[in-house]
Amino acid sequence: VYETQKQQVTIASLVQEFTILPITLKTIKDRFKSEMAKGLAKQGETLAMVQTHILGRLNGSETGTYLTLDIGGTYLRVVLVELSQGSAVSIRQEKYAINPLVKVGEPKVLFDFMATCIDSFLLANDAVIPKWSQLELGFTFSFPVLQTSINSGTLIEWTKGYTCHGMVGKDPAKFLQQALLSRNLNVNVSALMNDTVGTLLSHAYQHPHTVVGLGLGTGSNAAYIERVDRIGKRDTTVLGDNAEASEQEMAINIEFGAFDNERTVLPMTMFDNKVDRKSLNPSKQLFEKMIAGMYLGEITRNVLLDLIDNRLLFRGQSSHKLDTPWEFLTEYMSVIEEDSTTDLEDVRHMLEDNLGLGQVESLESQLVAVAGTTGPTSGGELLREPATTLSDRQIVKLVVKLIGERSARLTAAVLGGILEHTMGYTWARNEAERQGGVDIGVDGSLYGLYPGYESDLVRGLEELFVLEPEMSFLFAKDGDSGKFMEKIRFGRSLD
Ligand code: ADP
Repeated sequence: VYETQKQQVTIASLVQEFTILPITLKTIKDRFKSEMAKGLAKQGETLAMVQTHILGRLNGSETGTYLTLDIGGTYLRVVLVELSQGSAVSIRQEKYAINPLVKVGEPKVLFDFMATCIDSFLLANDAVIPKWSQLELGFTFSFPVLQTSINSGTLIEWTKGYTCHGMVGKDPAKFLQQALLSRNLNVNVSALMNDTVGTLLSHAYQHPHTVVGLGLGTGSNAAYIERVDRIGKRDTTVLGDNAEASEQEMAINIEFGAFDNERTVLPMTMFDNKVDRKSLNPSKQLFEKMIAGMYLGEITRNVLLDLIDNRLLFRGQSSHKLDTPWEFLTEYMSVIEEDSTTDLEDVRHMLEDNLGLGQVESLESQLVAVAGTTGPTSGGELLREPATTLSDRQIVKLVVKLIGERSARLTAAVLGGILEHTMGYTWARNEAERQGGVDIGVDGSLYGLYPGYESDLVRGLEELFVLEPEMSFLFAKDGDSGKFMEKIRFGRSLD
């Protein structure tokens, strides 16, 4: 792979920096578990452990037709869902691209955009939507919200590249309701929830043993089922004393993106620091910035630029595109990971044709052209540097693998923490359930589309639970029109 010893030494040190050893995995898992406990005890801790006010579990008996609006990362989705007999059928759904300017402008523009989408959805589907007196809407708002009731809450902070001014501390459900009213839409915002809670609920509806909903897309987060008596910070006037509370369960939105904002256990590299500094929310969501789709490409770009600046890649030449922040997408990493050709042809295509690397004429060739020297390169043709070398491409592939695998392993650490935290009480209410194991609903394009992500995640979990030999991991996938809805079955083997 390497052409020089300096290359070899630098890459070895990158490998060391980005590799999460089993011992670190365990340390992170343990810390995560104790942070969960802190967040349950008190308001304002690093892990928000948001009480969703959604009590109990779905068991498939719920029925009705509802509208949902889902906003978080790249798209806004409106879905008309029909619940019946344990199946949630989306009757109609529409996806709307979010103009990047809407994410950073006035809140009114953002919420008017949402209401416009609902309006056009209802108009386009008036044949299937009965003329009810009122439509009930579940608002999936995937940002940290301090929930005050099932359909109200206040924004703690923006994440994932949103910055709409003046929204922190305000109620997004109220903003949406006002925007709907101002358009004379008879739609009632009856629930406000995080997307991971939506994942948890929709999986639980079809698979009642679902105890965790995990989201791995633009951002990253999870929700899980908690026993109410373990929520020390709960409002006892609403949720009763310990005796009553031990009988109840509530979905908790962990908001794990903020994990270790104090920088105590996460092995952050200088590349992570660079990404954080240039982000719209410096010093916030540090964990999310190490694992989520929005950031992995940008971390990779920073590592590649460092190698270029040290003349260890592409003969020290960058390209305009690679020099531009956020232009190296996580999607590119998937393409690079997927390439198993001997010459790494797809990687070549990605680097040369897409990112414009290796396309710069060398100074020497330009001089030759200017001087009009005769010889093999004369005749007006510019001498081009050879494009990327195989060694360049192998190094790029290795860097990508390090960053992708680190993400999956860090996710394994927190998932391990969540499972250990819930183990023995939520998912083992009785022996039959213990035998059946638990289900984990997973949603998000990073998980669904990044090659090897799932297997790296499972390997991480297996390293963590080596002391419990009776435990096994079974993964199953099912699809949901265009959006990834996947299910992990995490249980114990039956023997
Ligand atoms: P949301 O934006 O609501 O989280 P998704 O779950 O579809 O929606 O996540 C989109 C994000 O997933 C993109 O911003 C990107 O970071 C990542 N992503 C999309 N496609 C791929 C892919 N092929 N490989 C890796 N990551 C991807």
